[in-house]
Amino acid sequence: MSRFIDKKFDLLEEYVPGEQPQDGLYIKLNTNESPYPPSEGVVKAVSESKVRGLNRYNDPDAAKLRKALADLYGVDVSNVFLSNGSDNVLNMTFMAYGFMGAVYPDITYGFYKVLSDLHGVESDVVPLKEDFTVDVEKFKGRDKLVAVVNPNAPTGLALSMDIIEDIVKSNPDGIVLVDEAYADFAGESCYPLIKKYDNLICVGTFSKSRNLAGGRLGFAIADKNLVADLEKIKNSFDPYYMSTLTQVAGIATIEDNDYYMETVKKTNETKAWVTEALTELGFEVIPSKTNFILAKTDKIAGAELYNKLKDKKILVRHFDNDRIKEYNRISIGTDDEMKVLLEVIKEILQ
Ligand SMILES: *Cc1c(COP(=O)(O)O)cnc(C)c1O
Repeated sequence: MSRFIDKKFDLLEEYVPGEQPQDGLYIKLNTNESPYPPSEGVVKAVSESKVRGLNRYNDPDAAKLRKALADLYGVDVSNVFLSNGSDNVLNMTFMAYGFMGAVYPDITYGFYKVLSDLHGVESDVVPLKEDFTVDVEKFKGRDKLVAVVNPNAPTGLALSMDIIEDIVKSNPDGIVLVDEAYADFAGESCYPLIKKYDNLICVGTFSKSRNLAGGRLGFAIADKNLVADLEKIKNSFDPYYMSTLTQVAGIATIEDNDYYMETVKKTNETKAWVTEALTELGFEVIPSKTNFILAKTDKIAGAELYNKLKDKKILVRHFDNDRIKEYNRISIGTDDEMKVLLEVIKEILQ
């Protein structure tokens, strides 16, 4: 860093994303992307004529995409906020409401801690229980910025919508952010609740269940006043937020919804047999509602398994956190990729 940077960033620990090797030599099971491509509709939508039109600014309201998303989830366009990846929704939510102080679990998406540090948000980090379930009572009656990832990452465990509603109801003067990056795999989402509660922000992304991680499209569904808050912040630094190409890709994704629900179903099927096969090999696999599993075995240390898989050109995610360091988080790839993974794990264990 230079000697010019604001001192408040000196101690800031950046978010470190999973490795993204660009050489195509790895089986990539480390950042929970879909192994399946976007639909044909998306390929056609990002057309030569759209590229030729890039000399003009994009629609700053992304009105067509907003309408499509609103219709998909049965809400009004005023309830939809679009973002350049959902990480940015999280960022703006911390900018808008972090002054309340934040509450989130100790084992969850790493960005919550980074955003707290970035924006100087005082945080109450609540340990997950011994079995990695959320200690729900500690999220009730806080009236702060209460954040839960549901289903949680990297555990894969989900809270029921009744519990989510209890948390929302018990924080009437706080904001409840529910990060639903994996909700399509669980088949349940909090969108319906936004009609009843003015303090709930449901955050979604096209990066996982909609096969569009590189397109950077995230969103929030919330009460229209909360959407207006986020819009105000967004328009204060980047009104032309969502690129033309991302907008047309997003619209086509929604038009091809059936295709994505098929790839979600396929991923859940693959997850079921992989969970069984790993269990047979002596792994303890946390039952997952997402497109990844968290697994460990007493036959090999977590970090060692990670390294040996990497030597064999398979990338999984290992977290250097005492509570989960014996585990690896394994994204669910195609059946063929997972067969290779299992063969290699068998070899390593021998
Ligand atoms: C992947 C992920 C995101 C980020 O998604 P982008 O839309 O790609 O920024 C947000 N939250 C959780 C829990 C995730 O796993």
